[in-house]
Amino acid sequence: MALKPLIAANWKMNGNLALVAAVTDALSALTVDADLLVCPPATLLMAFPAQRNFMLGGQDISVAEAGAYTGQLSGALLQEAGASCCLVGHSERRQYQFESDQLVAEKLASAIRQGLTPILCIGETLTERQQEKTEQVLAKQLAAVYASQPELLSKSVVAYEPVWAIGTGESATPEQAQQTHAFIRAELGRYDAVAAMQLRILYGGSVNAENCAALFAQPDINGALVGGASLKPDEFVQICLSAKD
Ligand code: PEP
Repeated sequence: MALKPLIAANWKMNGNLALVAAVTDALSALTVDADLLVCPPATLLMAFPAQRNFMLGGQDISVAEAGAYTGQLSGALLQEAGASCCLVGHSERRQYQFESDQLVAEKLASAIRQGLTPILCIGETLTERQQEKTEQVLAKQLAAVYASQPELLSKSVVAYEPVWAIGTGESATPEQAQQTHAFIRAELGRYDAVAAMQLRILYGGSVNAENCAALFAQPDINGALVGGASLKPDEFVQICLSAKD
């Protein structure tokens, strides 16, 4: 499938000014046929140079556009700080901030309304996989967002991140990931068949320099959302170099 890959870095609550400089430097030397995105902690967004060969993203977004929402960030604030994308519904937010499918759907709509490209994160827990509920869980997470607002699909990116693979060193196998990505694409085809074909579906969960090429070789894997390995500039560059359409 000839979709331009997207390689996205999720720094989570890590990084500092030195990492901003190191990653900017490492990526600036890269020529690669992929879109590159770095999602640092929001406090670091403005430390990146305005001239760069990669996009910036937030790790979350408020449903609200302005006002009395202490601690939250609107799309306008993220954009002014340089972001053009934002993660929505990362499993760590679903788990630690108790974000529901409904709230995630509202955040995704808010991101698009405010001019940002949302990267919707979905994924099953280990228990759900063991109980063979993976497809049921993913279908529910997708339906919560797109069943009532299918027009948002063409403006989205989806990241499949099995919760059991995040930060564990245990990636899904390329075959497991491909099978699930194909399911996600087919499921989304029920809401908008054309948009589903053109949608970039990223894989996330312990992606590293060793396993990325085999994952990227799968027809329905259109890039990666990289956590831990994105904090090592040289390794992140290797991952970016492995991306082909
Ligand atoms: C993530 O947090 O989005 C992620 C995929 O993390 P890791 O690559 O460390 O598993």
